Amino acid sequence: MASGTHDSDWRHFQDQVAEILNLIPGCVARVNQPVHGTRIGTVRVDVLAELRSNGFVFRVIVECKFWRRPIPQEKVFSLNTVVEDIGADRGYLISEIGVQSGAAEYLSHPSNVRALTFEEFKSIVANDRFIENCGRCGVKILVSRRPRAGKTAHCRACYRLLRATPRRLEYAAEHERAMSLASTVGFQLVGGTLGSDVKSSLETAVAGGAGFPNATQPLAIFRESLAAAIRSIESQPRGKLFRDFLSKGPYERQGKVPTKLRHQRLSDQETADTIAFIFSHMVNCFKGALTEMLATAPCLHILRELQAQKRLPREARLYVGDAVWAAPREGEGFAKAADLHILVERRSPKATPSVVLAGVAEVKSYFLPPERLGRQLDRHLARARRGLRVGKVAYGPDQITVGCKGGRPAVRITVLPADWNLPRTFHFERKDGRKLLHVDPGVPPSDADSVERVGPLQWRVTLRWSKEALDAAAYEMTFWFMEKLGEVLYSSGVPKEWEGMSPAQAGQNAAKMMLYYAILRCRTVRNNQRAIALYNSYGFGYALGMSFRNPQGRREMLWPQDLDEILATGQNKDGCRIV
Ligand SMILES: [Zn+2]
Repeated sequence: MASGTHDSDWRHFQDQVAEILNLIPGCVARVNQPVHGTRIGTVRVDVLAELRSNGFVFRVIVECKFWRRPIPQEKVFSLNTVVEDIGADRGYLISEIGVQSGAAEYLSHPSNVRALTFEEFKSIVANDRFIENCGRCGVKILVSRRPRAGKTAHCRACYRLLRATPRRLEYAAEHERAMSLASTVGFQLVGGTLGSDVKSSLETAVAGGAGFPNATQPLAIFRESLAAAIRSIESQPRGKLFRDFLSKGPYERQGKVPTKLRHQRLSDQETADTIAFIFSHMVNCFKGALTEMLATAPCLHILRELQAQKRLPREARLYVGDAVWAAPREGEGFAKAADLHILVERRSPKATPSVVLAGVAEVKSYFLPPERLGRQLDRHLARARRGLRVGKVAYGPDQITVGCKGGRPAVRITVLPADWNLPRTFHFERKDGRKLLHVDPGVPPSDADSVERVGPLQWRVTLRWSKEALDAAAYEMTFWFMEKLGEVLYSSGVPKEWEGMSPAQAGQNAAKMMLYYAILRCRTVRNNQRAIALYNSYGFGYALGMSFRNPQGRREMLWPQDLDEILATGQNKDGCRIV
């Protein structure tokens, strides 16, 4: 697969190819898909695209070779074998450079395999148009002319949103700022396998017609969701404090803060508040967003099954997150509703619009007893009876019916994480005179989410990913966010003592340094333990960082030599272990 290049470059290349294929109307392209043939058995292909047109379905296999050398002949042969054996319509080899002369010779004979460079591939898909990135969410789009200098093109969803939302609204301005941070990242942000699962969950939901707020493509949905989490972090009063934490920081020594530095540094109370804020609110915002995205595919699966059993009508649709709002307990406007809704909207020009609320889902990234989850679902249903807003349409109490066909109650779904732990095993690799730490990645023990029916219309989903794995991903996202803010902070220049650093490096440096100072300034054990947990996880990853404990069970600051000692004897010289 990826020989001679970095794995993430290759993944990125493969994702780009699929993203571009998805620009073709009627084409659905997915990466790393299994295919089955009589001779070859089951193999995975880089990209499998299905093109539907006038009732025909064409299957195309694409192998992506992100190589700096021409593709040898045997790769062409093996793709040809796969194409023939699974009965695909065509196979494409896409590479940066092209093919070796032997392969070119082979390809000049009639066959169903073609080789293209990435540029050739792009120009075929563009077909006299241009491939651009949306100026807001960054997804790829096809435009008939290049935007004029200083202007950007937008995808359809963003175009509608920018026209519909008066940008002077504070909500929009804050959200747009968050979106500008989110618009550069891909699914890899949350880690290889987990990222692929988030992506495939969103793909399943989108293909099944699920409604998401503000976006229609999986990557754009991912970025919107990330931006919503960032906005919710920044709109908190302590979100502002967090920015100060990175720019001013805690006092960098022990003892009293000197009077002349009082306004240039955070007070100890402010430092403690920031640590508590990162530890609870910030991590939870990212974790909630991630878990909700993972929950979409299994919820869609349940919807489909109920439709197959004729318990739900064909028009029933799944709505995710802020696509639906509920009436608040008092006052005007709308408030956050259940995590997912199953709705049947009835809109015709002749009759008053109405909606059937056929089901609700509650998604948690931590464990909660079934009774409490049940009570939350009850509350969601009760609130929804008082009013719902779906997209731009508001429904009053007399326009809402709750329940399934034949007077049955509404479907109730709970989604919880699994409970396996991440491995704590690691090793060092020597590369170019540097020592690189490798912590073994968490591999989910089961390869699918578990979907159980626990009552006539009640379902319990246990995600493939565990609470600890989701925690770890949320921590990584938190650190990414800190670095990004730092990068913005230093975009107009880095401090003199960090000369030679890029704004991104300065951002990373600031995040790590401030967490270190915070440990020095913590006045309570609880806060000190939290600051250490953050600092250690930032440097060594969540699995090791959270679980490095002294003989009394308390967290201690972790240093590289501790890991050497632990590898040798199972503990460091002070008896600290990874538990
Ligand atoms: Zn867009």
